[in-house]
Amino acid sequence: MQKVDHIICGEYLLPMDEALSVIKDGAVAINGNKILEVGPSHEVCKRYFSDNLIKGEGKIVLPGLVNTHTHAAMVYFRGFADDLPLSEWLNNHIWPAENKWLSPQFISDAVELACLEMLKGGVTTYNDMYFFEDAAGEVSKKIGIRAVLGSGILDFPSVSAKSADEYLDNAERFVNNWKNDEIITPCIAPHAVYTCSPETLIKSKAMAEKLNVPLHIHLSETEWEVGETLKRYGKRPVEHLEGLGFLDKTVLAAHCIWVQDNEIELLAKRGVGVSHCIESNLKLASGFAPVAAMLAQGVKVSLGTDGAASNNDLNILSEMSTTAKLHKALSKNPTVLDARTVVLMATRWGAEVIGIGNKVGSIEKGKIADIIVINMSKPHLSPLYNAYSHIVYAAMASDVETVMVNGKIVVDETHLTTADEAEILHKAKKWSDKICGN
Ligand SMILES: [Zn+2]
Repeated sequence: MQKVDHIICGEYLLPMDEALSVIKDGAVAINGNKILEVGPSHEVCKRYFSDNLIKGEGKIVLPGLVNTHTHAAMVYFRGFADDLPLSEWLNNHIWPAENKWLSPQFISDAVELACLEMLKGGVTTYNDMYFFEDAAGEVSKKIGIRAVLGSGILDFPSVSAKSADEYLDNAERFVNNWKNDEIITPCIAPHAVYTCSPETLIKSKAMAEKLNVPLHIHLSETEWEVGETLKRYGKRPVEHLEGLGFLDKTVLAAHCIWVQDNEIELLAKRGVGVSHCIESNLKLASGFAPVAAMLAQGVKVSLGTDGAASNNDLNILSEMSTTAKLHKALSKNPTVLDARTVVLMATRWGAEVIGIGNKVGSIEKGKIADIIVINMSKPHLSPLYNAYSHIVYAAMASDVETVMVNGKIVVDETHLTTADEAEILHKAKKWSDKICGN
């Protein structure tokens, strides 16, 4: 018998491995941050024991959820401006507020709240695009959530830089600061084809290649963007990026709503990962991404929340439910986006499209332990015939009971272990008072 740091058991264990197996009465043995063994409890517990054992009765165990597109700090603009057209929302509300309030301290306090919300809802990794990302990295590391952080790049000035070259310099410095970190992965994030010139996009791509880090971009989010790109470059957004040599498997493209068949083919051919952000798209009335068609063509589609100003939460379980249902209705086919596929999109595929699939995203021997436990002893989760079905169609963020990131328990019996939750909420209130001018 070998002593290990943790053993996590589940009445249902969903490793999200290649076979998409379901282990009834399963267990995972974890030492340090590594998964040593996965299998039926009676076998795992024959070989390993631990002082930290989570019993499996009434529990579903699965890999941590991955939020592949967000702007975490925007939680401080949650509910600040709603029910407006995208251009008015951005130009008259969000961008002026960002220019007035963003600072490293704002980012640090806001991202702390975002991390609390995400971890308590079972999200163990988030893929971010924003500014002052050093502050986001420090606080994410302190709270204990895994993150891929993209230093935002634009052609126009904001509080964080005055020119495209200054954003690029900031991004290079940021990547070098975090390159070898255990849970933070730096990335380069040119905002979109309508806010970055071809020259800025080419420079961003070259920098990502030189520094060997992923790229994160918004792509084909609105019909306006397609019209504008056609007007400026005579090509649709995906074709435009293809022409610049931008597209490959290191790219995560958020939204991809207004894409035609030839563009879907290009995304598939180049191995570009997509982040589908349905609740933000619905709220801003941006349109519907052709997810069923993308999946059919072999595009790897994952799930994102986008920023909390347009969602208004960072709840991947809710994205899963909305995604699964909406695409059935759109395609008039209830068999598309079945529950198992949607869990795959929110876990292993999520990790793969942001370049960390070799480390996390599934519960397999040798991988790093990012694991969540859902408590099924609730009226809305009883009885249980199919664990995948419950996760997608019935579970709520508040059903997440235990969260492990990098082998460390960061949410224990629904409470954050790494910081004071009341203090984080208090800081949010203080900032909102300031933003309202109270
Ligand atoms: Zn976004």
